[in-house]
Amino acid sequence: MIQQIKRAYNFNAGPSALPLSVLEQAQKELVDFQGTGMSVMELSHRSAAYDKVHNEAITLIKELLNIPEDYHVLFLQGGASTQFAMVPMNFLPAGKKAGYVITGSWSEKAQKEAKLIGDTYEAASTKDTNYNRIPSIEELSIEKDSAYLHITSNNTIFGTQWSEFPDTGDIPLIADMSSDILSHSFDASKFALIYAGAQKNLGPSGVTVAILRPDVLEQASDNVPTMLRYDTHSKNNSLYNTPPTFGIYMLGLVMKWAKQQGGLAALEKMNRDKAGVIYEAIDGSQGFYKGHAEPDSRSLMNITFTLQNKELEQKFLGEAKNAGFVGLNGHRSVGGCRASAYNAVPYETCKALAEFMRNFQKNNG
Ligand SMILES: *Cc1c(COP(=O)(O)O)cnc(C)c1O
Repeated sequence: MIQQIKRAYNFNAGPSALPLSVLEQAQKELVDFQGTGMSVMELSHRSAAYDKVHNEAITLIKELLNIPEDYHVLFLQGGASTQFAMVPMNFLPAGKKAGYVITGSWSEKAQKEAKLIGDTYEAASTKDTNYNRIPSIEELSIEKDSAYLHITSNNTIFGTQWSEFPDTGDIPLIADMSSDILSHSFDASKFALIYAGAQKNLGPSGVTVAILRPDVLEQASDNVPTMLRYDTHSKNNSLYNTPPTFGIYMLGLVMKWAKQQGGLAALEKMNRDKAGVIYEAIDGSQGFYKGHAEPDSRSLMNITFTLQNKELEQKFLGEAKNAGFVGLNGHRSVGGCRASAYNAVPYETCKALAEFMRNFQKNNG
């Protein structure tokens, strides 16, 4: 008899669920990777076996996200949080200002780092309504001659997501896509730089992906320490120093899985269906559950909601925990509940949550 593996209903916000088939593949290859007699962790990062892993992962990212051929795909460390500093260090020269669209805690943090380096301005902010929406393109005030415009494509904590990106002309558009990269189709050629910590949709924590248009690299400051320069990594195919090899291997397996699912369009459809069943449970509850985000700003990745009062929320979270649901507590800065339904969270897990929500309402409404 095949033993059934017990997998949690995992709604963790990050690190988060990975596809079961990816974990099983990694398990199978763990002690002897493709006849090398070593795990991937034990290979030299200069070996042919590792080189193949590394380059395959890059090729698959480019293919899946439909990234223009000449763009660089880099594997960095330090998380998206280090990108908050690396972006202005490289691209915010004295005498210029960088625009930030403030749509949540992560955009606030990005701007805070940039202020340590140079001048910034707020191109828009939705703080006055507790970040429950994405500003419309018309609301953005982008100053002429900005060094760049920075946005956060999905606001992990508040549960809002951009559905349409601004055209910034000659001003480089930079996006933190940590929590929705690879979840839906978008036009990568609009962006000068995209970065993402891997631990939501791409793989395990420890790898950060940066995708750069080559012409912005030429404008980068010369006065930046070697490891914090994008061109150090682009010139060395992310092998200037030892990269996070095991994380990159895992990321490559996730890319293969994503391709098997049918690529970006198929993943987007799955994500719409998954978020859809949970939003349905919220919208059909006649106010028992209240979504935090305005409907047209809703995230497909992070579904945020509250109940009528704190006691009921605690009861909901307690019973959900007992029923096997993991990670439903809202972020400590906003409270309430949050279900993170990243790519690897199966539809059945989302459906189970929607059913649990309806039953809880029946028993407590
Ligand atoms: C998780 C997250 C971050 C922080 O990522 P680290 O890799 O932990 O530094 C930044 N931005 C967004 C949008 C996130 O979701």
